[in-house]
Amino acid sequence: SDHRLEYPISPAHMDWTKLYPYYIDPEDSSKLTKQVTIADIGCGFGGLMVDLAPEFKENLILGMEIRVQVTNYVEDRIIALRQQNLNSEEANYQNINVIRGNAMKFLPNFFEKSQLEKIFFCFPDPHFKQRKHKARIVTNTLLSEYAYVLKEGGVIYTITDVLDLHEWMVKHLDEHPLFERLDEEFEKTDPCVRIMTHSTEEGKKVERNKGSKYIKCYRRLPNSAVL
Ligand code: SAM
Repeated sequence: SDHRLEYPISPAHMDWTKLYPYYIDPEDSSKLTKQVTIADIGCGFGGLMVDLAPEFKENLILGMEIRVQVTNYVEDRIIALRQQNLNSEEANYQNINVIRGNAMKFLPNFFEKSQLEKIFFCFPDPHFKQRKHKARIVTNTLLSEYAYVLKEGGVIYTITDVLDLHEWMVKHLDEHPLFERLDEEFEKTDPCVRIMTHSTEEGKKVERNKGSKYIKCYRRLPNSAVL
């Protein structure tokens, strides 16, 4: 349960300096010089962020994970990576971090309207049973929340090995007026699609078991699309 989780009452109340100290604003130490623009929802053990870090050096990347032990593991992993790569040109891992939180409840407490460029849903929990479907991370209501925090032109990335969940996510995203499905050409050429296909721990497990991976990406349309 998440009644003991702490959330900022608004994005302005969120202290990001502990998560990304490398980016503290020299003129105002309570702020960063950048905002988080990439979110990995249900990041698990953090493999996606670790591989995104060198590719998106200019972006701050945040994983959100509900399980305590898993969040602690990712925190420790990032501390170690930062220490091991202090002077690395390729990646210093200062641009990634994780918070424990329920992404289905409090995203707008963390992110301002249009703040994010990319949101990842990698191998979300399938919640197979019919009566559990409302617990899925993609629903009409939640998509409107994701649309709120995503900027125009921003992208939602989805990948799963569960066909039923894939069809569910595609159906809801297709139906939502603020999202437009991206084509195969995008999937073939976008670096994030390649990374999310192979980087996450769950994706590696699926690979070992020779399972399928279903991918779809959606672009956030301008609000005028619904007028
Ligand atoms: N994305 C990772 C990967 O591909 O390896 C993890 C996939 S795992 C099957 C799903 C993860 O989502 C779990 O770590 C779970 O704790 C997390 N999760 C489930 N519901 C969540 C929620 N409401 N908010 C944040 N994380 C959640």
